[in-house]
Amino acid sequence: MAEVAGVTVDTAHWIGGERVGSAAAFTDVSPIDEQPIAEIARGGAAEAEAAVTAATRAFPAWARTSREERARLLHAIADGVDKRVEELAQVETADNGALIRSHRRGVMPRVAHNFRFFADWLLQLGHDDFETRGHRNHVSWDPAGVCALITPWNAPLMLATWKVAPALAAGNTVVLKPAEWSPLTASLLADIAAEAGLPDGALNVVQGFGAEAGAALVAHPGVRRISFTGSVPTARTIAAAAAPNLTPLSLELGGKSPLLVFADADLDLAVDLAVEQYDNAGQVCLAATRLLVEASVAGEFTERFLARAERLVQGDPRDLSTDIGPQIHRRHFERVDGLVRRATKDGARALLGGGPNTDLGGLYYRPTLFTGAPAGSEILSEEVFGPVLTLQTFDTEEQAVAMANDTRFGLAATLATGDPERAARVTERLVAGTVWVNCFFVRDLRAPFGGSRQSGVGREGGDWSFDFYCDVKNTVMAP
Ligand code: NAD
Repeated sequence: MAEVAGVTVDTAHWIGGERVGSAAAFTDVSPIDEQPIAEIARGGAAEAEAAVTAATRAFPAWARTSREERARLLHAIADGVDKRVEELAQVETADNGALIRSHRRGVMPRVAHNFRFFADWLLQLGHDDFETRGHRNHVSWDPAGVCALITPWNAPLMLATWKVAPALAAGNTVVLKPAEWSPLTASLLADIAAEAGLPDGALNVVQGFGAEAGAALVAHPGVRRISFTGSVPTARTIAAAAAPNLTPLSLELGGKSPLLVFADADLDLAVDLAVEQYDNAGQVCLAATRLLVEASVAGEFTERFLARAERLVQGDPRDLSTDIGPQIHRRHFERVDGLVRRATKDGARALLGGGPNTDLGGLYYRPTLFTGAPAGSEILSEEVFGPVLTLQTFDTEEQAVAMANDTRFGLAATLATGDPERAARVTERLVAGTVWVNCFFVRDLRAPFGGSRQSGVGREGGDWSFDFYCDVKNTVMAP
């Protein structure tokens, strides 16, 4: 047990409806001040095995539970989340350093919405029936089995429930392995699900490191689906581990997304969109970190951007006036700093920031904007996952599209333009799972979500989630 921000959090695993400890533990450190906040059970192969066994046992009964009853239970979980928004917000902020104001207002209500949305979507999921020479084809969405859900630290509970909710709605049982840098709210979710009456073993939480608990889970032959959100290198390891069992994978990975600003754009809006990319201290997969600005307005854009960005308040994420909190972990901070240092060495010039926030110390990294990075340099091609943006200019639409697509990623793209015809032309040519025109981060759970190229495999959201989490079956009946 740990007391975090006044909330009691069970630091054991949650397996088959019971709290289960491990002989080993690891220390969870708060990014706010780098102080330890909890000792967490460190799971490995044995805990992964126990969780898959519990989930396998619970599967037949949960899979047979009516859609209405599954939806009712998911709504009860959502109600439980709503009741504990403040506790979840406090604990998540202590654990991953994201702003308390975003957790309260946006993230935790969205966690509840994840459950409600997939509960309601389940109830209206279609059954396609059609005839072939008098024979009736009946398409059904059968649950797949045990799902291993592996999640990152940048939006821990939001990303976990984006998987847990549809997987459970579809009639599967799940084993969730949260990121080791932000393990706490997954444990609170287990409490909430149990209080809501979810049957034992339907949701299991195994804590631990990726190379231990995570690796054991994704290699387990009893797992029928793996849904992973995280980095490209980990995705490769997971895909290799899944290959012998041919376990179907959904991979939601990193990005190096562009924000294209055309001369005909509303420049105030474009600046707002650009500054928004520092949200969550830049630790957002969808962040449009490459600012591509038409040369004729680049001077004006830069001036206005710097004026806005210099006003951003960096500090303790529990403070309501803070706009930018810390980086998640010392190791991540060092990685971000390494990329910034090498960018400078490569010839890029920081117009803003360019290093740690030495006034605050700790894990606070200054919002940074680079210009003049040489073509092909690391800072233009590698995901930083920190508050670091680059600025490049273009002269023609053709060039803008080529620069936007000049990446091995394809998660998202954003464009600012006042010309709807240009918006249509450019959008059609961008390689990205999501394109935003004159807006950013507007998400509807009915829409497909995922990445092209190395940003991912597959799509989730609405029917796409059920498509992944179900064994879709066609039954042909003779007349
Ligand atoms: P990561 O790949 O290091 O870790 C993600 C999860 O995988 C963690 O739970 C970790 O313990 C686990 N893991 C690590 N090795 C494993 C293994 N061998 N087997 C099984 N599990 C293993 O990623 P991260 O640093 O936590 O997250 C940052 C990355 O996530 C960034 O690249 C970011 O872009 C990406 N991300 C993508 C999305 C999206 O929706 N596309 C959303 C958020 C974050």
